[in-house]
Amino acid sequence: METIRPYLSPTFDPHSLTIEIAQAAESLVNKVGVLEAPISYRDLEKMAAHRMIKQISKMKMNCGGSLIPIRGGFLVQLDSAQNERMTRTSFAHEIGHTFFYDTGRDVPRPIYWDTGGSRNVRAEEGLSWVAARTMLAPTQMLQGFLKQDESWPNIHGLLSLIRKFDVSPQIMIRRLQDLESEQPKVVGDAAIYSIHVSRTEGDGPRRITARTKVWKFGGMKKMIAYNMNGPNVKVDRSLTLMEGRSLSEPYETKEVLVRGELGQIPTARYRFGCSWEDRSNTNLLAMVSAVRRS
Ligand SMILES: [Zn+2]
Repeated sequence: METIRPYLSPTFDPHSLTIEIAQAAESLVNKVGVLEAPISYRDLEKMAAHRMIKQISKMKMNCGGSLIPIRGGFLVQLDSAQNERMTRTSFAHEIGHTFFYDTGRDVPRPIYWDTGGSRNVRAEEGLSWVAARTMLAPTQMLQGFLKQDESWPNIHGLLSLIRKFDVSPQIMIRRLQDLESEQPKVVGDAAIYSIHVSRTEGDGPRRITARTKVWKFGGMKKMIAYNMNGPNVKVDRSLTLMEGRSLSEPYETKEVLVRGELGQIPTARYRFGCSWEDRSNTNLLAMVSAVRRS
């Protein structure tokens, strides 16, 4: 049974374990031989069995789930109020946590308590999410879909991946980011953004402001988060264009020339694709930007 290597020293950076944990999750997928998207609850149960999860119970909880070490393995508790997609997501996340335990004991213990290191719960959380999204969108399957989509990258392609794997936009976007850092060619020259939009009601026309998180893909230069401190022409225009659109109707611009005004994106032609995830008070907008270099 695989465990993730313990902290080597108090200064050890747990983020260096990212690739290791993604590979561990990937090998778990291979062990159960999952072939079809979406990864089902039943598929996850099989993966859980390989991780010594002996029991799964659903109950009312104030978080998505928890992993409890018991004699001979683990017990997973899942919040019964979650929908099917969230239940699978929480389940995958709890399976991810098992990689951080020494299972050679009667009752598993967090691995780096053994060496006297302190437990970096925050890093462990993030890494369990890396494992979860790898299980929910395994590399080979994702790669297969991207290869089939001749028009990738575009917003329709991103939405179709979200539907095929039945995961949240957040999970898919982060998953593509993981994949890009390992295999940039697979993801191609695309930048995928997730934008949190908040609305301000006032006397005048309703103002929308955006707080942007930016992730870099492909051959693009380093990008910084932008639009945090002021308006940004391209994003603001996209949001205005999106206002009249329905939840399910993605919007894609024709190629527009951007002169380096989006953070540190090099001056080039881009295509913007936008889609609302929901239009409640805090929305998530996903955008794919395709780059054509001259
Ligand atoms: Zn967790």
